[in-house]
Amino acid sequence: MENKFHINHPEDIGIQKQKVSAEDIRAAKAKIEKKKRKPSSHCLFCKKSVDEIGGKRVVAQKTLGTYISKTYRGGGDPDFPDLSIKIDDANYIVLCGKKGIWTDELIDKVKEIYLNIECPWFCQKCAGKTCHICGEILNNPIGSDVIYDDGCVLHVAALGYNLGCMNDACENYKKWGE
Ligand SMILES: [Zn+2]
Ligand SMILES: [Zn+2]
Repeated sequence: MENKFHINHPEDIGIQKQKVSAEDIRAAKAKIEKKKRKPSSHCLFCKKSVDEIGGKRVVAQKTLGTYISKTYRGGGDPDFPDLSIKIDDANYIVLCGKKGIWTDELIDKVKEIYLNIECPWFCQKCAGKTCHICGEILNNPIGSDVIYDDGCVLHVAALGYNLGCMNDACENYKKWGE
């Protein structure tokens, strides 16, 4: 028989109406955590949608990103310190980025997105995956983890050649997919 819990979000744990055992809570938690996170609606930094910007949604790259971790991480590179935000007894959100980039407002937003079982992302402009000549976005955000509509995250490897940008008025323009 399957128990029905009113635990749909990690923050529901502890305030649910029924009496449940620790084992039940573990099971409910595992269920929540297994859910694939869909990308949140807008870029975390510029608050634009991916349709407005074009290109792909960047979840993480070498010096910018967020992820869920069971262990607290802090410090590291002083110019790019890791920051951990506790979301429940067992999980932290780890924020990576340039020192000072994570304002209180952004941290609250990231927390809200994760508790909503979504995944925060950056557009290619905010992630710096832009053309060095015209500033428009590149055909592919190389060296980044990108998230698709269904929540799949894939890594875009560096290819060792210039992918070109999407701006057909730019000398760096390359038609993509041919
Ligand atoms: Zn953006
Ligand atoms: Zn260009």
